[in-house]
Amino acid sequence: MGVRVIPVMKPLLGEEEAEAIAEVVRSGWVAQGPKVAEFEKAFAASVGAEHGVAVSNCTTGLHLMLHLLGVGAGDEVVVPSFSFIATANCVRYVGATPVFADVCESNGNLDPASVAAVMTPRTKAVLAVHQGGQPADIAALRAVAGDVPVLEDAACAAGSTLRGAPVGTGATLAAWSFHPRKLLTTGEGGMVTTDDAEQAARLRRLREHGMSVSAADRHAAGNTVKLEAYLETAFNYRMTDMQAAMGLVQLGRLPGLIVQRRELAARYAGLLGEVGLRAVGDPEFGTSSFQSYWVHLPDNAPDSVEVLQALADAGVSARRGIMASHLEPAFDGHPHVPLPVTEYLTRRTIILPLHHELTESDQDHVVGSLTAALAVPTGAS
Ligand SMILES: *Cc1c(COP(=O)(O)O)cnc(C)c1O
Repeated sequence: MGVRVIPVMKPLLGEEEAEAIAEVVRSGWVAQGPKVAEFEKAFAASVGAEHGVAVSNCTTGLHLMLHLLGVGAGDEVVVPSFSFIATANCVRYVGATPVFADVCESNGNLDPASVAAVMTPRTKAVLAVHQGGQPADIAALRAVAGDVPVLEDAACAAGSTLRGAPVGTGATLAAWSFHPRKLLTTGEGGMVTTDDAEQAARLRRLREHGMSVSAADRHAAGNTVKLEAYLETAFNYRMTDMQAAMGLVQLGRLPGLIVQRRELAARYAGLLGEVGLRAVGDPEFGTSSFQSYWVHLPDNAPDSVEVLQALADAGVSARRGIMASHLEPAFDGHPHVPLPVTEYLTRRTIILPLHHELTESDQDHVVGSLTAALAVPTGAS
């Protein structure tokens, strides 16, 4: 008999998604087509943006945003090291240099003072992340960035709010992820949102080989022959209609899922507070989707790997803190300013299970197991 394990995350999927995909298959149009167009409109509206351009994942979306702005060799883009490595990698894709800035201890997002300290005349963009669903203070970052555009890696931020509006509202350019580790999933998938119609049109071309006529345009033209031109060297970063049909169903589930996650997060905060532990919470300027819910280990606690092992032994699947990209072999020797808060958060926080099937007794078990793991002195068994 296997012991029941509480997973760290579980996508919310139902028969409706299976049915929506089956319908697309039966329709005979499975690649990018009418469902992608419908999903783009619905998703963009849900995050307060004028235009949505669906792409194959968030990483390709991030790449397109930088390519669109003409960022390239000799340029610098300020990014947090405290993020999934795609945030830094996309800067390298265009031949530019990622410049790491440190983050705020309270929410894991770019610290405006640290950003100001690393900007140079070569800085072409600041790429802010809404880490784990915690909204980043975009206004404060714009204040230090001046004329340099502030772009948003909103991979985890569907359902988060900033100053009373959905994250994404008023964004210069934002990239979203629909990977199953996020809250709205299409298996793989992503979107770039913007309020600028010209940028949206160019993004549509860039994701589709630079073609002047999309398959959907040609279909709409009926019998009229439409010749395409390839206007620039571009990419194949398309989403499929099967994914988009799934995304439309998922989008309908999102508001309820966020309410439930926030209730579970509030209950965690209470339980953890009772045993003297501190967890991530909403900043004063917004609300989090709590895509990732992390707790700070006390100074005298064992190493996070030991804590994770003790939790695993108790049937709780937790995770190490969000990664620090500058500590990975891929960034060996890459120059950066000291990043003490990033290193602290990566090493001294852990991510607790949070998903729609998590029960109150699961939460009690998670917090009880964590308390027990912290009480064991290092080296004892
Ligand atoms: C998940 C994630 C990505 C990458 O998303 P994909 O859709 O898997 O490419 C990028 N940035 C952040 C902050 C993420 O959490």
